[in-house]
Amino acid sequence: MTNYKRIVVKVGSSILNQDNQIATTKMKNLVEFIAKIKNKNIEVILVSSGAVAFGYTKLQIDKKITSNKQVLASIGQPLLMTTYQKYFKSFDILCSQFLIEATVFDDDVRLKNAKDAISRSLKNSILPIINENDTTYTKELVFGDNDQLAGYVTKHFKADMLLVLSDIDGYYDKNPTTSHDAKLLKNIKKLDKTSLNDEHTPNSEFSTGGIVTKLKTASFLIKENIPMFLCSGFDLKDAKSYMFDSIHNKGTLFGK
Ligand code: ADP
Repeated sequence: MTNYKRIVVKVGSSILNQDNQIATTKMKNLVEFIAKIKNKNIEVILVSSGAVAFGYTKLQIDKKITSNKQVLASIGQPLLMTTYQKYFKSFDILCSQFLIEATVFDDDVRLKNAKDAISRSLKNSILPIINENDTTYTKELVFGDNDQLAGYVTKHFKADMLLVLSDIDGYYDKNPTTSHDAKLLKNIKKLDKTSLNDEHTPNSEFSTGGIVTKLKTASFLIKENIPMFLCSGFDLKDAKSYMFDSIHNKGTLFGK
């Protein structure tokens, strides 16, 4: 059992959406996993993507157009939250929504307010669920991907680690979707500049970041001396053995 007191869990759209439907079973498994972490007296902050993907389950409009994306996010965000609320309720967990913009982290007063609200929520055993506000999306003002948002949340809301649940089971020496001989890298202490400047390679139509934004986040957290564990959110087996038995099977541990 790891000795973390507070962790951030980041989940990508691809885990929550399957064939343009809400991936009910995977979402329930995620909720059960988080409930189990909370049961071990570890505080959890969830950074969840999925607003646009959830919106798209109700209305199929071209999501490449920014205003359409905003419309989809405005439909999907409440749906995402109601679904989480319903599933967490069966574990007696109250969850709350925080829509945080990138600019909050550059503004001392707004950041302090956000920190106070998050810490008060955690003291009351509430599970804060954070997303970027995709309805006011402006390229210059947003992270654009929840990996980097999750990195900032981990640092500023004082978590001991970031757990990234992805559609891939770790970081490989080359893209595993195109190179079948790619090897999983289990421990990364340092990332070089070239890997951080690679092209973005999201694997599903609702993903935005790809591996590069995960590496940027890992690099940011390594500098803060905070570990990040990247593993599959489809099959939570590796996340569970890492969190509950301190056994590192698959998955990549960055830092530490
Ligand atoms: P998520 O939706 O879970 O946030 P993304 O689809 O955005 O994940 O990013 C993960 C994808 O990045 C993988 O499924 C894979 O296709 C791609 N990728 C490219 N290079 C690598 C690599 N070196 N290691 C792991 N994944 C990689």
